[in-house]
Amino acid sequence: MSGFDIAIDGPAGAGKSTIAKLVAKEKNMIYVDTGAMYRAMALYMLRNKVDLEDRDAIAGKCQGAEITIKYQDGVQCVFLNGENVNDLIRTEEVSIAASKTSAVPEVRKKLVSLQQELAITESVVMDGRDIGTKVLPNARLKIFLTASTKVRARRRFDELLEKGMKADLMEIEKDIKERDRMDMTRAESPLVQAPDSVLLDTSDMSIKEVADKIISLVDW
Ligand code: C5P
Repeated sequence: MSGFDIAIDGPAGAGKSTIAKLVAKEKNMIYVDTGAMYRAMALYMLRNKVDLEDRDAIAGKCQGAEITIKYQDGVQCVFLNGENVNDLIRTEEVSIAASKTSAVPEVRKKLVSLQQELAITESVVMDGRDIGTKVLPNARLKIFLTASTKVRARRRFDELLEKGMKADLMEIEKDIKERDRMDMTRAESPLVQAPDSVLLDTSDMSIKEVADKIISLVDW
């Protein structure tokens, strides 16, 4: 670990990736979106028609998924067995599947090693659910980003519409609640606030306000 990493954790739709990207740009650090890796793994399970309620099947299958990260024009691209799957992993189906597959210890072990490797040589802003607690426990700055469920659902809804995708606000809110429940109650690395992290409720804050606040906390 470089010793100058920023860990940003929090529930689905709290704005982690938007904020993490801005902070990384401002501080000239590498942004690592760990959710994208769990999503790529979920896509692999869906494609292989693995029963997502069968943890043993997921554990057995996950070794066949080679997930790598590359940066193209500063944008993180996730590759699944050599294929760039960035554009295929943002659907609600993959979101729910990611929460299911990410609860399996073998999946986490594989992806956490990859995430820790990425932080060996570079200073990173990494976002996820267990970055401050498990992946980068020595991160110099830890943030726990949250917002009300309603606000998070609304943001996700607007994001999908902006991308020209179909969206149903009620459906999104239901999915977000379900993902939070799964992420917070799983046995392996559940989503919890690290005791040494700074809690930021962004419900009534603009993106700029949140990014400025975090940047003001960076002491290097
Ligand atoms: O952050 P994002 O919504 O893309 O993450 C998708 C899913 O991947 C989460 O709901 C969670 O189950 C899982 N995840 C995780 N640990 C991380 C990042 C994501 O378990 N560090």
